[in-house]
Amino acid sequence: MLELLFLLLPIAAAYGWYMGYRSAKKDQDDISNKLSRDYVTGVNFLLSNQTEKAVDLFLDMLQKQESENEIESRSQFEAELTLGNLFRSRGEVDRALRIHQALDNNPNYSFEQKLLAKQQLAKDFMSVGFFDRAENLYIMMVDEPDFAEGALQQLAIIYQKTKEWKKAVNVAEKLAKISPQQNNIALAQYYCEYAASLGAESKENPLEILQRALAVSPNCVRASIMLGDLLLKQEDYPRAIGVLENVLKQNPSYVGEILPALKAAYQKMAQNDNFELFLIRASRENPNSSVDLALADLIAEKDGRSAAQTQVYHQLQLNPSLFLFHRFIQYQIEGAEEGRGKESLILLHKIVGERIKQSFDYRCTNCGYQSHKLMWCCPSCRQWETVKPIRGLDNQA
Ligand SMILES: [Zn+2]
Repeated sequence: MLELLFLLLPIAAAYGWYMGYRSAKKDQDDISNKLSRDYVTGVNFLLSNQTEKAVDLFLDMLQKQESENEIESRSQFEAELTLGNLFRSRGEVDRALRIHQALDNNPNYSFEQKLLAKQQLAKDFMSVGFFDRAENLYIMMVDEPDFAEGALQQLAIIYQKTKEWKKAVNVAEKLAKISPQQNNIALAQYYCEYAASLGAESKENPLEILQRALAVSPNCVRASIMLGDLLLKQEDYPRAIGVLENVLKQNPSYVGEILPALKAAYQKMAQNDNFELFLIRASRENPNSSVDLALADLIAEKDGRSAAQTQVYHQLQLNPSLFLFHRFIQYQIEGAEEGRGKESLILLHKIVGERIKQSFDYRCTNCGYQSHKLMWCCPSCRQWETVKPIRGLDNQA
């Protein structure tokens, strides 16, 4: 609503001039008073959240103003631009487009005024999903210092929607030159998307692109995971281990995501003990049932079920979670004698297992969206890196 109020400033300005002009004629005082009242009523509608009524009233005022055709060119331009914006805010984009297009084509307006019209025209196209047309307009604005930043931001949004990652990288790199950021999450994610989109025949090296992602956003877990997987494929196990273990420093909530790759790398190097040491360290630094379960698996392989059961029991007391409880019952069943006690345990194991299956694995910390799959851009609130593994969060299931 605040945005709408700002949007109405040109109307206020145009009317200020218009009313001054009319009242100078003395005999038109009543008309000027009526318009003044309408304007105040409109603003009151806005303030009491009756946006629809307010927009209708302002549209009516602007249309009257147009028909009077008595305002100077600058005010006329601003009022028309606003009229278009009001139509867009009401969902009447075809009317907004006609008005903004007419302004852009009018030879009486200056280059700067036409840029403003193009900017609004591009917004109209964006609002109806004509991304190619919006893209052409924003590309024209990139070379204009006052419009460049906004145009690049919009181009990044367009390329994100159309999944043109190379172009997204290019505009985000330009944007980073205009306003540098310490931790450029969006650019890092574009690098990751671009690296993931490269085919085997590509001349570009995904390894280099992922390193660029880490350079612009050192905490980009996704780049580390992808880099670790690539190094694993290239059989560079020591480097893969270094990159994957770094996730614990970057963001411990995601540690569960790297465990299979890390385990594979340590196994290739015959260093299971070092994997165990990493798990112990990770578990101490941040409660995470994925880590605890991996540790139990490793202990079970090495020292048997009983030792693993003791470990899980100990962890359950420190960090109770449904996942650990499920595993604990499983160990109990394996060690139980046939009979009613074991049958009850099997039933309990099944019930807890069903509950785990129903629960989500990932949750957006920004909007609460839940999913069974890790997504780097939340499909609900469109934020990068806000969807996190629930097992790595404080209040685990
Ligand atoms: Zn979200």
